[in-house]
Amino acid sequence: SFPAEAVPQAPEDPLFGLMRAYRADDSPDKVDLGIGAYRDDNAKPWVLPVVKKADEILRNDPNLNHEYLPIAGLASFTNKAGELLLGPSSPAFEEKRVSSTQTISGTGAVHLGALFLAKFYKVNGASRTVYLSNPTWANHNQIFTNVGLSITTYPYFDKKTKGLDIEGMKRALADAPERSIILLHACAHNPTGVDPTEEQWREIADVMAAKKHFPFFDCAYQGFASGDLDRDADAIRYFVEKGFELLIAQSFAKNFGLYGERAGCFHYVAPPSPQAAEITTRVASQLAILQRSEISNPPIYGARIASTVLNDKALFEEWKENLRTMSGRILTMRKALRTKLEELGTPGTWNHITDQIGMFSFTGLSETQVLRLREEFHVYMTKNGRISMAGLNTRNVEYFAKAVDKIVR
Ligand code: PMP
Repeated sequence: SFPAEAVPQAPEDPLFGLMRAYRADDSPDKVDLGIGAYRDDNAKPWVLPVVKKADEILRNDPNLNHEYLPIAGLASFTNKAGELLLGPSSPAFEEKRVSSTQTISGTGAVHLGALFLAKFYKVNGASRTVYLSNPTWANHNQIFTNVGLSITTYPYFDKKTKGLDIEGMKRALADAPERSIILLHACAHNPTGVDPTEEQWREIADVMAAKKHFPFFDCAYQGFASGDLDRDADAIRYFVEKGFELLIAQSFAKNFGLYGERAGCFHYVAPPSPQAAEITTRVASQLAILQRSEISNPPIYGARIASTVLNDKALFEEWKENLRTMSGRILTMRKALRTKLEELGTPGTWNHITDQIGMFSFTGLSETQVLRLREEFHVYMTKNGRISMAGLNTRNVEYFAKAVDKIVR
């Protein structure tokens, strides 16, 4: 028999299965609210104007080649990426306690962090469990388990209020064994669209400090949530200020529209101490080895695009404008959807549509309702009731609201 004969069939990735079903549907009414990728008002992918400019600049550079990047990636990109998260004047840079590694987008950054934790983060000789929000981005589960870490969840989404279960979350963090790994979404929580308030972040940080937990921030939507890069990094900056040792996975897929180019970074931040710089150097040396055995060198093109924008004042300003265009359109769609549902008198409350933030909204629709929407109205969304707000536009928002209205009655 073949060595691979015993390999069982794995299920198709649910999200990519959903995309396939959408493509196969030939109804002119079909609506794609599945994947978290920005669409313009014509339901088309949007190449950011600033990315087009950066692309032009790169293409016109006669000295451009296709050599390997260093193992840790393009420094002009990773340095600015770190500044974007912590703020350029963070003492962490001056004190040399930030190590930044370019990764295969946000997924690769979460993975590199997971590998690092699996190999080096032991308490009394054993790995610590990773606490994930319930619910979370589905890929978190397999990224951590695939490197041999055990996972569990902390309460996050309150089904009644369709907001944050802050008390449940704090209780779970307080009950977790000391020095547990806590995965936090920096902003625009996927899939719920529910973020802690500034005050709630402080409370979370207090519990985590008391229990010496290890924060691992996943930041896939900076600038996409509020439209303001600094505001969307507030939680991370607060934890850094509080002196936490922490990890950050950073994706530029959504905020630059560089999905397929796989531009991302993994950052390690040491707590302030006389040894911080030395510890950071050691961490970087180990990350380089992990990176080498996984991918050798990160991909160059997306990093060059982002670097071109991040290192040029005018382009950087233009990027911020592009970010406001995307987040602004999504906010407009949130308002439009809520208004339409309320006008229709659709049973239930719909304030959560505008209270939630970022790419997604957790509608509260049940799996049965989701399937009916697909079968009867050609509306494609994940079974947990999540919709990608970017899939709505001025032409389909009313159709979607009416479909929801019909199936909840
Ligand atoms: N984390 C979260 C929470 C996400 O939503 C995503 C994108 N769906 C990612 C990480 C990583 O995406 P990518 O690998 O495309 O950067």
